[in-house]
This record gives sequence, structure tokens and C-alpha cells, in this order.
Amino acid sequence: MLKVEGVAKSYRTGNLFAQKSRHILKDVSFDCRHGECLGIIGESGSGKSTLGRLILGIEKPNRGTIRLDGKDIGDRNSRIGRISAVFQDYRSSLNPFFTVEQAIMEPMKTVNRATRMLQGKVEELLQLVGLNPSYRSRYPHELSGGEAQRVCIARAISTEPPYLLLDEAVSSLDISVQAQVLELLKTLKNRNKMSYIFITHDIQAAAYLCDRIMIFRCGQIEEIVETKRLRDVRSAYARKLLESSICFND
Ligand code: ADP
Ligand code: MG
Repeated sequence: MLKVEGVAKSYRTGNLFAQKSRHILKDVSFDCRHGECLGIIGESGSGKSTLGRLILGIEKPNRGTIRLDGKDIGDRNSRIGRISAVFQDYRSSLNPFFTVEQAIMEPMKTVNRATRMLQGKVEELLQLVGLNPSYRSRYPHELSGGEAQRVCIARAISTEPPYLLLDEAVSSLDISVQAQVLELLKTLKNRNKMSYIFITHDIQAAAYLCDRIMIFRCGQIEEIVETKRLRDVRSAYARKLLESSICFND
């Protein structure tokens, strides 16, 4: 289980003589169970990506703890091969000088396996994300947006991590490609029994994929609701978010 307890994060802004602290996250607590898909939705600037970086252990909270199966995420051993991520910007996520095969192999190498075995695994992963195995020798500039994001997903799941954090992972794809990638994520989640932290500003995408949805506002949790009870959200802000989306009017 991923357990976030009393997490706060602030950044210093200003210059040497006039320093200020901006409080981005304020006392955030929630958990994500094994095999669960938890959506985090909120407006741009509400602190979703900051929370994502803390969950990945890229940055440390000022206060509070984040534990993955009881171990602090700040400890490298507790996160390597246990949680990985897919970000919005698939283009800059891929090294332009790496082939698809090299990109997918990279995280597996850190877990240390023989190269020949890894090549077989690359083929398997490409098939899993719906790409022809011949794509292994392509470079990022030879891929469409949707294909590049599939490669990022293959890379993220290559070490079979139980947790995957997706930060606006479908947001910059064309609508039809978005639907395909969401479908792929749903299939993978059921097949590999993975837990997702699905960060998005798109409530429809969250409703499609997630079991529970956390409404996030100004660095705080407004409400956490089961997707099947999404229509019953209480807070005025959550209702406003929902009413502005088609999924509520269907
Ligand atoms: P979201 O992903 O919900 O759009 P972010 O977490 O990216 O929100 O950003 C929340 C706020 O935190 C923004 O106002 C942003 O400018 C600020 N912020 C994020 N990272 C930093 C940083 N490293 N230093 C200073 N401010 C930051
Ligand atoms: Mg963001």
C-alpha cells in the first residue's frame, strides 16, 4: 500500500534579500491500495505534479511521510523497481540518441539482467503496448506521439513495478489516440494487477480508468470519492468541476 501522511511542501521564492515561502501542499493524507487506481484531479497549479514528484521520491516533503509497503519512499531501495512513472511530455522523456530497444532496456539494466534475456523481454513489451517488434530499432523522431507514449509506458512497466504514477500521461495526445492509450492502460492494469496514481485535469479520463477519485484544490484534498459515486460528490468545488464536464451530463 502507498501511504501518504500529513505531507506539506513549500518552495522558497524571491531573492537572497527578500525570501518568501510558497506553500504548495498543505497537510495531504491518503492511501492507494494494491491493485487500485486512484485518480488525482484538480486545476492547473493546484500542486498535483508536486505531489507526484514527492510520491516518486524525486523531492522530499517538508513535513509528513510517504511510505510504500511500510518503507519510506525517500530510501532508494524502497522505490527502485517498485514504482515508476509516465509523464505528459513523451518527447523529452525519450533520449533522442536511444533506439526504442535501448530506451525500454534502460530501467531493466539497473535491476541487472542478461542482455539476451532483455531482448526477448523488449519484444514482449512492445507487443503488450500494441507496437510491432520491428519498432525496436526506431529512434524517437521516427515515432508518432501515441507511439512514443506507448514506448514510455513499455519502459515504465518493464521492471514490473506494482505502482505506476501517470502525470497527465494522455493529456497531450490527440483525442482518438488518448482513447487508445487509456484502453491500453486499463488492459495492463487488469492484466498485471498494478496500482495507478493517475494525475489529470481531465475528469472523464479519470472516471474511465479509476476506482476512486481525489479532488485536489490549492494543495489540499477537497474530497475523495468512489468513481461509481461520482455523482454524489459533496463539496461545491467538486460539483462545479463535474458539472463542467460532459460525463456528468450523459
Ligand atoms: P499542477 O501539476 O497541479 O499544475 P504543480 O505541482 O506543477 O501544479 O505546481 C503547483 C505550484 O507550485 C505552481 O504554482 C508552481 O509554480 C509551483 N512550483 C512547482 N514547482 C516549483 C519549484 N521547484 N519551485 C517553486 N515553485 C514551484
Ligand atoms: Mg502538473
